Amino acid sequence: MQKITDPHSFQELALKHRSQGLCTALVPTMGFFHEGHLSLMRLARRQADKVYVSLFVNPAQFGPDEDLQAYPQDEEADAALAEENGADILFIPASEAIYAPDHSTWVQVAGLDKGLCGAHRPGHFRGVTTVVSVLFHLCCPTMAVFGEKDWQQLAIIRRMVRDLHIPTRIAAHPIVREADGLAMSSRNVYMTSQERKQAPEVYRGLQALSAQVLQGHTDVSFLKDFLLERYARTVPLGRPDYIEFVQPQSLAPVSEITQPTLVALAMHMGKARILDNILIDTMPRQH
Ligand code: AMP
Repeated sequence: MQKITDPHSFQELALKHRSQGLCTALVPTMGFFHEGHLSLMRLARRQADKVYVSLFVNPAQFGPDEDLQAYPQDEEADAALAEENGADILFIPASEAIYAPDHSTWVQVAGLDKGLCGAHRPGHFRGVTTVVSVLFHLCCPTMAVFGEKDWQQLAIIRRMVRDLHIPTRIAAHPIVREADGLAMSSRNVYMTSQERKQAPEVYRGLQALSAQVLQGHTDVSFLKDFLLERYARTVPLGRPDYIEFVQPQSLAPVSEITQPTLVALAMHMGKARILDNILIDTMPRQH
């Protein structure tokens, strides 16, 4: 595995790979790898000739009161894990190498960035789509892999790729969870042991909600109350940021579950913010 910090060297190498007709895959990350990131890398490894992993804590996607300075980092461990899990190139640019001091070009997917996390983190998705566009321009990947944990991010990037005719296929990886069900996240280290003990109840609540739908409860206000009441009992240290029921692609709010519906939530848990979702599939499965 080769470590590259200079964007132009990365671009030169990637263009060479492209001219050789190789299938290339990009896995964009902010580092501090866990099994979620590593699963994305292995998916890329199975499908591509060359795997690029970017590690960049992107300042543009952090709000002024967020954890940019405190974001957990372990570059050495990350490099070893990326190599073990199939990366050919680990791209670790400095912030100044990506953003010129007078950087003034932004990519924004209007509309899809308004609800869910967008409503609570103004400017966040503009930062994400801008940096992902920069990365796509640097390495022109055949495919790029994103996790379903950040479902809204995935929907926004799919829309950006479609709207801008970017010749990159977007692959999605299901949420990777701890044995007790908590969705893995680099930010989980912020939790105290008490918070960590309650954290698995977040996903258990989503599963219980799904069971309610199977029992015939389809009214979203009933289901939201059911979940809030359950969280008040089972996750007393948590403070729900939002719980939304939306159409999975358009992210439009749903009031009655008659079609496959995404239930997405964010829950403040001390210094951490747990993000999770479940797809409630009302359609009979095709075999
Ligand atoms: P991050 O480093 O948090 O920006 O995440 C980099 C990529 O890994 C994004 O596409 C995330 O959606 C994905 N990811 C992070 N955690 C998980 C997880 N627990 N399961 C699946 N994908 C994940």
